[in-house]
Amino acid sequence: MEPKTVLVVEDNELNMKLVRDLLRFADYAVIEAWDAETGLELAQIHQPDLILMDIQLPGMDGLTATQHIRRDADLKHTPVVALSSYAMNGDKQKALDAGCTGYLTKPIKTRSFIQDLVSIIGTQPSDN
Ligand code: MN
Repeated sequence: MEPKTVLVVEDNELNMKLVRDLLRFADYAVIEAWDAETGLELAQIHQPDLILMDIQLPGMDGLTATQHIRRDADLKHTPVVALSSYAMNGDKQKALDAGCTGYLTKPIKTRSFIQDLVSIIGTQPSDN
């Protein structure tokens, strides 16, 4: 049973570590990108099953990156879940407008993170 692959695009070290640990504990394989440009490159190379996209990134922001993903023939159906601070009013609608599948707020809720993700993408990590 091969774990599903998740690409995490996140520039904050603590958030990256937390998300990585939670995903690995749930048997996902994790690919990490610290900016959107690298994320797009790694998405094309690895064709992940899911992309977790921080919205606020150095250089290209996560919403612009998501728009690129939605225009990419190989990636347009890949679920993209946005990560952002709930303090950013209106972010959820902007994320959905940019083509994100769903939206999770930071700080990340450790106990429910995987279940929240699964609810958004509508599948279990072990459904292979
Ligand atoms: Mn960020």
